[in-house]
Amino acid sequence: MDAIEVRNLRKRYGETVAVEDVSFSVREGEIFGVLGPNGAGKTTTVECIAGLRTPDAGRLRVLGRDPSDPELRRLVGVQLQDSALPDRIRVGEALELYRAFYEDPEDVEALIEALGLGQVRGTAFGRLSGGERQRLSIALALIGRPRLAILDELTTGLDPQARRATWALIEHVRARGVTILLVTHFMEEAERLCDRVAVIDRGRVVALDAPAALGSLREQRLRFRPSAPVADEDLLALPDVATVRREGELVVVSGGPAVVQNVAAALARAGIVAERLRVEHANLEDAFVELTR
Ligand code: ADP
Repeated sequence: MDAIEVRNLRKRYGETVAVEDVSFSVREGEIFGVLGPNGAGKTTTVECIAGLRTPDAGRLRVLGRDPSDPELRRLVGVQLQDSALPDRIRVGEALELYRAFYEDPEDVEALIEALGLGQVRGTAFGRLSGGERQRLSIALALIGRPRLAILDELTTGLDPQARRATWALIEHVRARGVTILLVTHFMEEAERLCDRVAVIDRGRVVALDAPAALGSLREQRLRFRPSAPVADEDLLALPDVATVRREGELVVVSGGPAVVQNVAAALARAGIVAERLRVEHANLEDAFVELTR
């Protein structure tokens, strides 16, 4: 069974079509990323999955149930962008309060430790910094030991150290078999954590694959200084070579996956050495920019 099934989801706010037609499924135990530019419809999609908004059309199943099924409250942990708590409630109190909702909750001390909240345990919510609120909201999403965690903008506003600690926590949670749906616009986060990502643009899925596969679909580039003159036509005649540019004395060749081997072999046959050789692989960020251009 898939943990989440989204089929032809559609949602509009008045005149604005936030989600035009989105379909994907998330396997159990997977970390699935939803990526896309601002306004693409990511939050609306996850809010529908979390049962917080009613879709206009489409089929949604979450752990085999309709998102509005109250049973899901025990099984799904949700961290949303602006989860608000009363200003006066202290961090430790909020965690204890949420803990009481669940039969087999997480150990509060372990979560406080993992998210670095020890210093602010006695601090009122209204006095927390953005990053501290963010870390608390992650703790609250995980405290019920959910089977599925939905995390929107997991590490936005966190400093690099807190971001890394949060990634480690998410990997630890996943190791227990928890399915994680993650909205992010950090490519590094998606590449590090996600098994698969859906790239959403203007309310539609424009790509869906493993982060590395999305990256490697794109072009490869090599840049070098030839030890002897080499003609553009000779390079362009090689299989998989798409473009040849000159940057001063450097030659920049780009093309498909075999471009590096083909150019290197051709240069070797001609007795030319590729000096200062650099190979650049497109990463998820390049793929993303290209897909959502
Ligand atoms: P993302 O999370 O990818 O930034 P959203 O789902 O938040 O995208 O928004 C998609 C579109 O819907 C945007 O054009 C946004 O302005 C609009 N939108 C989002 N929420 C509302 C709302 N409550 N009322 C009206 N329009 C909204």
